[in-house]
Amino acid sequence: MNLVNTDSKKKVRVCVIGSGAAGLCALRHLSSDLDYFEPEAFEQTGNIGGIWIYTEKIGLDENGFPIHTSMYRDLRSNAPCELMNFPDFRTMKGNKGSGVHREILLSYLRDYANHFQILHFIKFFKKIEEVRAEIIQSGDKNITIWHVKIKDLNTMEIVCKEYDAIMVCTGNYSRPNIPIVSGIENFPGQILHSHTYRKPEEFIGKNILIFGSAFSATDIGVELSTYANVIYMSNRGERITSKLPPSIIQVPNIKCVEGNKIYFIDGSSVIVDVFMYCTGYLMEFPFLDKSCAISVDDNFVYPLYKHTININQPTMCFLGINSYVITFPMFHVKALFFLYMLKKRFKLPSKEIMLEDAKLKGNKKRHAHRLFLSQYDLFDSLAHEAGFQPIPHIFRKALDLWTIVREDDLWHYKDYKIIINNDDSDAEIVYSP
Ligand SMILES: Cc1cc2nc3c(=O)[nH]c(=O)nc-3n(C[C@H](O)[C@H](O)[C@H](O)COP(=O)(O)OP(=O)(O)OC[C@H]3O[C@@H](n4cnc5c(N)ncnc54)[C@H](O)[C@@H]3O)c2cc1C
Repeated sequence: MNLVNTDSKKKVRVCVIGSGAAGLCALRHLSSDLDYFEPEAFEQTGNIGGIWIYTEKIGLDENGFPIHTSMYRDLRSNAPCELMNFPDFRTMKGNKGSGVHREILLSYLRDYANHFQILHFIKFFKKIEEVRAEIIQSGDKNITIWHVKIKDLNTMEIVCKEYDAIMVCTGNYSRPNIPIVSGIENFPGQILHSHTYRKPEEFIGKNILIFGSAFSATDIGVELSTYANVIYMSNRGERITSKLPPSIIQVPNIKCVEGNKIYFIDGSSVIVDVFMYCTGYLMEFPFLDKSCAISVDDNFVYPLYKHTININQPTMCFLGINSYVITFPMFHVKALFFLYMLKKRFKLPSKEIMLEDAKLKGNKKRHAHRLFLSQYDLFDSLAHEAGFQPIPHIFRKALDLWTIVREDDLWHYKDYKIIINNDDSDAEIVYSP
């Protein structure tokens, strides 16, 4: 197995790609041992915060690159903010409900970065163009040197630098997944993906078809429900049983589109002005050279140990692969796991064991990294294997409480508030609109 050469007095040079919540978390932990690590982060935009930075703009940014963020103006978190706290920086509390406005999340991330004094590690307007692995002999061992091509977006100059480890923190919610819908090319109305949805006033009085039924579909549907005339929500799976606003009508899966008429598989049809895909995102890492030995197939990233470590090149990790998770604490445990491994505080199991762990468990590649209620099992297993403090156990109970409310009432769940005792001994949920 190729690990960093920690025999010499040289520090371990770590390249962090991206400065959203995951990149900031990586830097926070790298910076706690600067005798050992030499961190450097690269961010293609001019800001920290990643997806939580709102812009009205859609399409391309000032440098001609696709807009990264998928935030909309009035977004409130779908996870309770109390559980989104990094376990070592628990300053966020919802004032009314625990589903808080995106600005609160962004200012929390800024506070976190300032508190741990990590901003000076970040180089802005630097886009990582390529990451290539080279295996070299060092004494009796093989080690991997990472060659990274960095493009300065102000000067367009490209420099190449070498690192001992790579932390991929580039996010997964920027490239829309747009499934094929027969006849959609002749739809005369507005077609958009939730990635470019910004504000509800633009849809006053409209008849809207939302294609999808996961977080974006229901959250945007609820937001639009007081503005639109009617919202038809179509999905491939089972009907949602939770409370929804009366202007949301659930319809079956789509068969085809003819003009502005949408036909469903049961033969029924509706006429709409707007077709909105809420069909999720595609994972991609265009900068990874094939020497990184990572494949992405229908959002299944392979081979990763515990959804985190590149089994073929264990000095590379990915912090944000999982979906249906509360992300900030996940970044915390994954970053610690990787750094403890680099510091040799524990040893990874054999490649065979790790490959077994990386196998597709369900039958859909697309859902391979979805966790939801099993997320804390993964987080705990990372903590136990590496030997650091797990996430407070009370977070599990609080998530269960939140999930019950969410499943019952998608219309109002963000107005419920999670209250956790100061000593983490208990949690409750109260309606707090
Ligand atoms: C609409 C929406 C609502 C959400 N709500 C919640 C929620 O309520 N709770 C929750 O836990 N999660 C939520 N999420 C998930 C959210 O993505 C995470 O909370 C989290 O902030 C992701 O952080 P990240 O650092 O992994 O990625 P991002 O925030 O996407 O940051 C990645 C950064 O990497 C940079 N980058 C990308 N490629 C390169 C490159 N080649 N070179 C240099 N820089 C690069 C980007 O510019 C960006 O700044 C939501 C996501 C969306 C889209």
